[in-house]
Amino acid sequence: MANGVNVTRSGMPPLEEYIEEIAGLWESHWLTNMGEKHNRLEAELTRYLKVDNLSLFSNGHMALEFALQALELKGEVITTPFTFASTPHAIVRNGLTPVFCDVREENGTIDVEQLEALITEKTSAIVPVHVYGNPCDVVGIDALARKHNLKVVYDAAHAFGVELEGRGIGSFGDMSMFSFHATKVFHTVEGGAVCCREPAHLKALYKLKNFGIADAEHVVAVGGNSKMNEFQAAMGLCNLRHHGEEIAARRRLVARYRQGLAGLEGVRVLLDEGPGLKSNYAYMPVFFDEAVLGVNRDGIMEQLAERGIGTRKYFYPLATDYDCYKADYGRAKTPVARRIAAGVLTLPLYSQLPEGKVEEVCGIIREYCV
Ligand SMILES: *Cc1c(COP(=O)(O)O)cnc(C)c1O
Repeated sequence: MANGVNVTRSGMPPLEEYIEEIAGLWESHWLTNMGEKHNRLEAELTRYLKVDNLSLFSNGHMALEFALQALELKGEVITTPFTFASTPHAIVRNGLTPVFCDVREENGTIDVEQLEALITEKTSAIVPVHVYGNPCDVVGIDALARKHNLKVVYDAAHAFGVELEGRGIGSFGDMSMFSFHATKVFHTVEGGAVCCREPAHLKALYKLKNFGIADAEHVVAVGGNSKMNEFQAAMGLCNLRHHGEEIAARRRLVARYRQGLAGLEGVRVLLDEGPGLKSNYAYMPVFFDEAVLGVNRDGIMEQLAERGIGTRKYFYPLATDYDCYKADYGRAKTPVARRIAAGVLTLPLYSQLPEGKVEEVCGIIREYCV
């Protein structure tokens, strides 16, 4: 796209740095199966994310599937329809039944006030999503989970590096899944991780991602293959060194967006920031309220597209409206999620986006909305 910008652009380390990181592989010939880089990245991320235990995976989706399998869940799992397809798919592909709970108007995360009414004798777990990196009500969810003896697995795909009161977001619940896909704020090209509190869960995850193999002569679980290879891990080691710069640049751009959209009635930035919260500025989600503006999200998207500015409807449609789910789950009542999905648009955000582009985007929106 000439002069155009996309909604995101994968961060890349300097080429020489990556080459230096992978050079040793031509001597070791150890390319996958928990190699030196894999193990080093695991250790560095455990520290960086402030979690007890962490296991790397080939991608975030498989990480979530194996997390649910490791907990040996049965029956129903409560989740949110306002997420990426991966979340409900991981539940259904584990033979579990998703039950969809509505979300909070303020930040799109699961509404704990409505969660309890959905718990039945069949419920075994809750899979909330820290959507856009906005933390769920982890305290409220924890209290409910304890009261009803439920497991909690967070889809933290968006929440890399987020901290609450100095605690790593991945330290809440029984497990959390992070995605390191190329479009995420930290990436390993494709990749992911599961964090967990229990060392026994870590052992289970380790086996499951390697065919359930316990040792040379024992296969103890019906696992699969989801190991992170050395080239992915090398990309992660490089990107982790530059992660601070990436976040700082994004923080400045988000502040610019906030300024540029300030005072526009019916336009709301769906990002949590504030004391006690270390945000990661993974996305720039903006909610456009058609009832106030008189114009809709799709119109705004079109205006921007005409000037070469790419945006995304994250997340639309709701999972309950997918062709593969609507027959079974289309009756779920989630009016807030429906309203947000109808009005949300994520705007371009990546560290190398010029500030002038942010001003241009805000200008186009102002012109169209006022
Ligand atoms: C990206 C994403 C995933 C899946 O991660 P992959 O690494 O792409 O497999 C899961 N959940 C959410 C909310 C995501 O955005």
